[in-house]
Amino acid sequence: MDYREKRLSVLIVEDEIKVVEAVRAYLENAGFEVSYALLGSAAINALKEKNFDLIILDLMLPDISGEEICRTIRKTSDTPIIMLTAKSSEDSKINGLNIGADDYLIKPFSPRELVARAKAVLRRFCQETERNMCGFKGGLSIDYITPAVYKDGSEVALTPNEFKILSFMSRNPGRYYSREQLIEKAIGASFDGYDRAVDSHIKNLRQKIEDNPKSPRYIVTQYGFGYKFGGVKL
Ligand code: CA
Repeated sequence: MDYREKRLSVLIVEDEIKVVEAVRAYLENAGFEVSYALLGSAAINALKEKNFDLIILDLMLPDISGEEICRTIRKTSDTPIIMLTAKSSEDSKINGLNIGADDYLIKPFSPRELVARAKAVLRRFCQETERNMCGFKGGLSIDYITPAVYKDGSEVALTPNEFKILSFMSRNPGRYYSREQLIEKAIGASFDGYDRAVDSHIKNLRQKIEDNPKSPRYIVTQYGFGYKFGGVKL
């Protein structure tokens, strides 16, 4: 997603039609494609049908609270959310951010400020998404958030432990780790009777991501030192 090239879609969830109209006019003027829902239930339905790039969410709705909708969205999606509310206390602000809102505007607000905040939130989100996806020479890429691993453009199915090892090692490249360190730091388990399992995870990982598992470029072994990630970022 790139906010500079694509027309981004925004869902406004707000029961006051005057606020919807004002915000909608400004957002459309700024190039956004705007949908709206006057009830929480309508918002939930709209979200089932379409992936929006940004959600503007009023907290005080007649049926479902904005907080509840926010929690529901966050179970499955990291779409940016800007909350709108008349509640001006510090507590409700912190609560909004804690349950997953990206920004917060207190009513009455200026629609121009909302547009500026929307752009800032989307810019931040795009930068984070780019940081969460990393490509390496030789056709390996890792999406740390989804999570997913690709080799030459095709998704590779990894087990959770294989992903944990690859994710940890690729984020700490060039350093050697012993089996025990990998279990503790990457998998987060105790290593009693488990250290040989690391060898088998590494063997399977190499089969999946290396061009030649016998001469690996990503997961390199040095006798006496352990394993290190040898991938080079694109
Ligand atoms: Ca309201």
